Amino acid sequence: MYWEQTVQSAVETDIGLRRKNNEDSSCAYHCPEEVAWRKTGHLFVVCDGMGGHAVGELASRLAVETVTHTFLKSSQSDPAKSLHQAIVAANQVVHSKGSQNADFHQMGTTCTTLALTSRGAIVGHIGDSRAYRLRRDRIDQLTFDHSLEWEFERKHGNLDGIVNLAQHRNVITRSLGPDSLIDVDIEGPIPILPGDTFLLCSDGLSNQVDDPEIGAILRELPPKQAARLLVHLANIRGGPDNSTVVIARVGDLPANVAPSNVEIEEDDDRFQLGWGWLLGYWAAAMFLVAGIAMLMFNKQVQGAVTTGLSVIGLVALIIGTVRQRRSQVVHTPDESHTRIFRPHRTAVSLPSKDLFERLATIDSELQRSAREDGWDVSWNDHGKSVTAAEEAAKDRRYGKAVREIAKAVCLIMDALPRKGTAKIAGD
Ligand code: CA
Repeated sequence: MYWEQTVQSAVETDIGLRRKNNEDSSCAYHCPEEVAWRKTGHLFVVCDGMGGHAVGELASRLAVETVTHTFLKSSQSDPAKSLHQAIVAANQVVHSKGSQNADFHQMGTTCTTLALTSRGAIVGHIGDSRAYRLRRDRIDQLTFDHSLEWEFERKHGNLDGIVNLAQHRNVITRSLGPDSLIDVDIEGPIPILPGDTFLLCSDGLSNQVDDPEIGAILRELPPKQAARLLVHLANIRGGPDNSTVVIARVGDLPANVAPSNVEIEEDDDRFQLGWGWLLGYWAAAMFLVAGIAMLMFNKQVQGAVTTGLSVIGLVALIIGTVRQRRSQVVHTPDESHTRIFRPHRTAVSLPSKDLFERLATIDSELQRSAREDGWDVSWNDHGKSVTAAEEAAKDRRYGKAVREIAKAVCLIMDALPRKGTAKIAGD
């Protein structure tokens, strides 16, 4: 992508209806200057902490802070490596905090990160929070869930109807914090097209709202409204967990802006010869010239010895150089667990009659509760949206119908009395 392409983002987090703490943390960082952006990229993070009480909250907050700080200060020119280093650094911070006292023993967090860079989108990930990309009418899950369910399926194939792992949905197989060493998935760089919309979320959202719904809502609504509706939907369906959504939509390149050249910088770890080696080559070359000169001036013995020795020296230097280069390549850590991009799951996500009717049912159930309990809703605006939605649905314009009914649902949910005992639809 180009620096000139704007990125519209939105962050929404909610404690849910069952938990006492919000253990999710997140951030959306937009580089303010082009030079900084070329080096790193815009950064988006979602972490879902675990460990109970305030421990999970601390783990996810430490992870977001460390990832952001380390990534933005990195001296690497490859943002994929910077992202990997940042997640490893966050693991060290959370792990050492977790080792400090017994109360922090179970401390851990998921960590899903997205960098929008000049090379493309790069995803760094551990745990079962998710990163999605919406492109036109398709939603792709860019991350692999490190959960028992997904790992089991990867190993044994699709076990639908044979083994039911749904009750173990929350068991995660990899996370940041419990171990001193971690295995991080890096995906990408993934080419970015204008209009691509990325979404990161915690499982509090993805367990309640399915991929086609997430995609259709993301497609039809601006990021801020989409994020709000998604979090509301998680709560409407019981809100058993904290839910967090971070959305980043990449805009078009403005028509009056000529794109600057995208420079792909060389890697820092390219092979370089030290001064000692260069001096060796220079000395061997000098001896070779001297030897040849002696041969030309009839000093056959001295010339042959000097030339022979310099040739042996040059061969030894070349062998040494090749060996050193190999050892550098071998010792470069393979920091990118997965560099070839392929979505892990994909679904068609279009606004449909079915989605409209689902939202309309939610709206009418919410309406009943809200009117009975006297919630402070702007009923005039609500009525206008419902009418517009119904008219659009009659004309089979389901995009407009979904947008309008979404507005109506949000108007009611924004007025939900959170500390009261109000019953909500689906609860
Ligand atoms: Ca969670």
